[in-house]
Parts: sequence; C-alpha cells; structure tokens
Amino acid sequence: MSSDTHVYSYSAVLMGSPILLKLFDHNEALAGAVFRVIKQQEILLTVNRPQSEVMSVNHAAGVEPVVVSQPVFDLIARARAVSVLPESLFNVTIGPLVKRWKIGFHGDSVPPAEELQALLPLTNPQQVILDPAARSVFLPQRGMEIDLGAIAKGYIADRVRDFLRQQGVEHALINLGGNVQTLGGTPDSEAPGWGIGLKKPFGAPEELIGVITVSGKSVVTSGVYERYFELAGKRYHHILDPASGYPLDNELLSVTVISEDSIDGDIYTTLLYGMGVKKGLDYLANTPEIEAVFVTRDRQVICSSQRQFSFTLLDADFHAV
Ligand code: FAD
Ligand code: MG
Ligand code: MG
Repeated sequence: MSSDTHVYSYSAVLMGSPILLKLFDHNEALAGAVFRVIKQQEILLTVNRPQSEVMSVNHAAGVEPVVVSQPVFDLIARARAVSVLPESLFNVTIGPLVKRWKIGFHGDSVPPAEELQALLPLTNPQQVILDPAARSVFLPQRGMEIDLGAIAKGYIADRVRDFLRQQGVEHALINLGGNVQTLGGTPDSEAPGWGIGLKKPFGAPEELIGVITVSGKSVVTSGVYERYFELAGKRYHHILDPASGYPLDNELLSVTVISEDSIDGDIYTTLLYGMGVKKGLDYLANTPEIEAVFVTRDRQVICSSQRQFSFTLLDADFHAV
C-alpha cells in the first residue's frame, strides 16, 4: 500500500498479471476482499492450471458434456456468440493454438506450419454445443479447448466494480493489467476524471503516448506489445488469427476500447483489432456505446467519437488524427 495525496493504491499479482486497486480510503480489508473476488473468478475460469470449471470442459472434449455454474455457462455462451459473428477475429476455441505457441509463457516457440494446420480444425467455435437447460458445455472433438483469455479479465473487472458498489464505494479504479474499470471519477474537483495512460508500444513501462480521461467507464487495451517473443528479428505476439494460426499481422499496434462494461471492452478490443482502422471506425459509427482509440504502426493515434472520454496526446512522435 502506498498513499499519494489521498489516493491509496493496493497491488497484487493474480491471473499472471499485475493487479492495481485505487481507493480514496485507507481500507486494507476491502482491498483484500477485492483480491479474493478476483481469485475466486480465476479459479473458475483459468486454463493455466489443471483444474477449473473451464478446464473440466476441456478435459472432457470428445467425451461428454460438462455441467458448469450459471455465470461460467453465460460467459462461455457470450464468448461463443461473439466468435460466430461474421468475420470475427474472436475465437473462444483458440485454446489449442494458444497452448501450442505458449506466447508469454515459458517455452514459447514458432511451431512448424504443418502442426498449426493440423490444429485449425480444432478451432471451430460453431462446434461448441451449449445446453442452457442442463447448463452444460460440450466440445465434440478430442483436443478442442476453450480459452477465455480475451474476455475473462473484462468480465472479472465488472464483477469487482459490482462488488465495490455493493460495499458502498463511489470512487475507485481497478486495473487487471490492461483492463481498467472505474467507479465514478475522482473526488478531486480540480481533476474529476480518472486519467488512464495509453502506453507507448515497446516503450518503457512509464512511457505514455497520451492520457485517456473517463469517469465511471471501462478502458481496455489490447496490443501487440503486451505479450510477445522475438525470433530471428521477427516479433510474434499473442493475438492469433484463427484463419491462419499465426499472430495477426495488420497496421495496428494497439486498440483501446472505452465502454460502460469492461466485458464489452475486452470483446471489442479483439474484434476491432481484427477489423483494422477503416472497418473499425465504420463499425463504431453505428455503435455509439463503444468508443475506441487505435494506434497504428505509422504512429497515428485515431480516436472514434469522444462522448465517453477525452484524449490528451503527450508524445510528439505520435500524430493524433
Ligand atoms: P486480449 O487481447 O484481450 O486477449 C488475448 C488473449 O486471448 C491471448 O493471450 C490468448 O489467451 C487469447 N487469444 C489469442 N487470440 C485469440 C483470438 N483470436 N480469439 C480469442 N482469444 C484469443 N497469464 C499467465 O502468465 N499466467 C497465468 O497463470 C494466467 N492465468 C490467467 C487466468 C485467467 C482467468 C485469465 C483471464 C488470464 C490469465 N493469464 C495468465 C493471462 C492470459 O494468459 C492472457 O495473457 C490474458 O488473458 C490476455 O489478456 P489481454 O487483455 O492482455 O489480451
Ligand atoms: Mg480482449
Ligand atoms: Mg483483454
């Protein structure tokens, strides 16, 4: 815990990610309770331990349907629905590719092309069979694996927000390592919004392109610079293209989504990453509840409409459009 004026920051490492909670009261017990909320969700949703509700579905692939709890069923159903949208980059059955590449984990390597080809038929989200009455999930082929890495942090950030609200908290920020959710603004009348740094891709941790200011909104960033490895001068990052089995290669370095719910932010960073800037902006023009900031390889920072946030550029090497 450290205090800076009257902001109290609490940190932990959960889900392999640095977690930061900011409160305006010194409340160690509340911070502990928040970290327990996150831990409980991690235990249900992780694919990085042998056991979880999601892992029981994966272990039973090709064998039998598995009954899961209602919230986990609903989350998998949402992830499946997003995955089967036309041209969606989001794929809830990306697990076999994620496990093979191991990007961001010990032992990452570039798999042989034929191995990736052989895994592609195991990543068809249409094949996930959901039975709402039984609350069961069935992966019909052996080797299929659900991975909620592109949606679960957003979902969990919303659970933390709901928990803090129940506790009567009006002003708070939770950062799950790229997924930020806020309650209210700050109680500071001079600077009432939360300023959330937009990181400079491949820069030092404290280097920012600019600041996104919000109150009571979620700010989620997905980027090619978060988890990656380099081999023979080429970078391999963790957002995989389910069509090819390789990291998606386009003009984007990062996409940040500003929305009410962090689950939407997490979903849309992945979807917009797949759409690219032009299609993404066209899409957002008809989706007023979702707003975004794109950062491109040629150092442009492109904001959609700014009703829910404001953006301040800090780095003169980048160009705000
Ligand atoms: P996003 O861009 O939102 O999502 C990228 C992640 O989604 C990838 O890392 C991959 O898992 C998956 N993905 C890749 N391509 C696609 C695609 N086309 N469609 C759908 N999904 C895709 N990390 C650790 O190092 N150790 C841990 O023990 C650990 N445990 C975790 C437990 C939980 C419950 C969660 C949610 C995450 C955990 N993580 C852990 C982090 C995890 O491995 C991912 O790195 C993280 O979820 C990526 O989130 P993001 O917001 O950075 O990226
Ligand atoms: Mg995501
Ligand atoms: Mg995410």
